[in-house]
Amino acid sequence: MERLETGIHAGRLSPAEYEANFSDLHPRLDNHEALVAADRCYFCYDAPCMTACPTSIDIPLFIRQISTGNPLGSAKTIFDQNILGGMCARVCPTEELCEQACVRNTAEERPVEIGRLQRYATDAAMQAGKQFYVRAEATGKRVAVVGAGPAGLAAAHRLAVKGHTVTIYDGREKSGGLNEYGIATYKTVDDFAQKEVDYIMSIGGIDVRHGALLGRDFSLSDLQAQYDAVFLGIGLAGVNALRIEGENLAGVDDAVDFIAALRQAEDKSDIAIGRRVVVLGGGMTAIDAAVQAKLLGAEEVTICYRRGKEHMNASEYEQDLASSNGVIIRHWLAPKSILSQDGKVAAIEVEYTKIVEGRLVGTGETGVIAADQVFKAIGQTFDAAGLGSLRMESGRIAVDAEGHTSLDRVWAGGDCVFGGEDLTVSAVAHGRDAAESIHRTFSATAAPAVAVA
Ligand SMILES: Cc1cc2nc3c(=O)[nH]c(=O)nc-3n(C[C@H](O)[C@H](O)[C@H](O)COP(=O)(O)OP(=O)(O)OC[C@H]3O[C@@H](n4cnc5c(N)ncnc54)[C@H](O)[C@@H]3O)c2cc1C
Ligand code: SF4
Repeated sequence: MERLETGIHAGRLSPAEYEANFSDLHPRLDNHEALVAADRCYFCYDAPCMTACPTSIDIPLFIRQISTGNPLGSAKTIFDQNILGGMCARVCPTEELCEQACVRNTAEERPVEIGRLQRYATDAAMQAGKQFYVRAEATGKRVAVVGAGPAGLAAAHRLAVKGHTVTIYDGREKSGGLNEYGIATYKTVDDFAQKEVDYIMSIGGIDVRHGALLGRDFSLSDLQAQYDAVFLGIGLAGVNALRIEGENLAGVDDAVDFIAALRQAEDKSDIAIGRRVVVLGGGMTAIDAAVQAKLLGAEEVTICYRRGKEHMNASEYEQDLASSNGVIIRHWLAPKSILSQDGKVAAIEVEYTKIVEGRLVGTGETGVIAADQVFKAIGQTFDAAGLGSLRMESGRIAVDAEGHTSLDRVWAGGDCVFGGEDLTVSAVAHGRDAAESIHRTFSATAAPAVAVA
């Protein structure tokens, strides 16, 4: 049978299997389901779900609007705080944020389905082409935004609403950042990331230049000279290296590149996958790569994580998703070398690990896992090219509470700044808040009104 063939192959599944495997993970609720789900909300006056949301969406209000048959009003409540509320409804780890905090999340009950209700409302508005914002009168202020990911898009939209003129620079061919190139395929189907970009851009006043890379085509000081303010939302462009023997063999790939290729593939059967796949890492990227490898027809997929289950960055929900798709998660294993046969990956040698006096160490005991493909999901790194003397903290951009960097008129947000949560919704909050801070700075430096005696 084709799928049992060793090595890395495309087209392991039938067209029907690809379609079923990569369909929407949580399809939109229909009207009746939404009313039933909304009815479970107590509309708490102190709504802990709202406090748990990084963008502070008024969750009881938007759910109340759904329950009164007003999905468009509900969408406006969401978009007022989070213009990428549609994507966040699909990708937020709600089980760790709003739904974890929901008062109905008890041993006997399940939480209100906030994420799915948010999707119901935002989809209704986007499908109706309903725009809620009109640009303020042009202010004459020009802002450069570097990076068209969630942080940059949220900043650009809020600045455009205020009447400022925005130019976005992004090194890639499409806008969306990891919404377009990183999020798992089954979380965002039907080209939703680009539909959301179009929805955001329709506010007007935002010009996007793709293929324009900071550090190669221009520097931060160029932008400072040309614009009234700069917002950096450049994410984490680099990846960590394993630094073990065999890392450069064919068949050892970066998990983020694999996921990006899968997201961009017109036909999933074009994406080659091994029969036995090992994924190294313990975060969301490791889970997404492993699950999607399985969905592409890999027979055996193993995640190897060098610490324990309790240390994994991937949520309990994500770990369960992997297990329910047949992914094996093994803990306390660190990669030691990648073994080859005829120049191709044949297996991975791992060493058992333990924590001694707070430090992770190898026990000296090793084992071998057969593999024809290895994905590295061991973390992304920040690329500081073109940023000049910008102050860094632990390898990312240092910012204050408003997202202002160490340089005059330069703000930053999203994954590229120190102290964030590396989530889509946090990046949106950073971009929005930095835009408000930029706007306040412009207002404060505007010529003072003449006092009337
Ligand atoms: C595989 C994967 C899966 C994930 N899944 C989830 C999930 O399910 N839920 C969730 O909440 N979060 C998830 N995340 C995290 C989430 O995607 C990020 O936190 C979020 O995208 C950060 O947004 P950002 O705007 O800061 O950066 P990015 O989305 O990375 O966008 C940065 C943009 O800047 C551009 N850029 C970078 N460098 C330059 C440069 N020098 N010049 C010009 N442009 C540049 C890039 O092309 C990109 O468009 C995932 C991350 C990964 C890697
Ligand atoms: S905590 Fe739960 S029940 Fe209370 S307002 Fe939020 S969603 Fe509704």
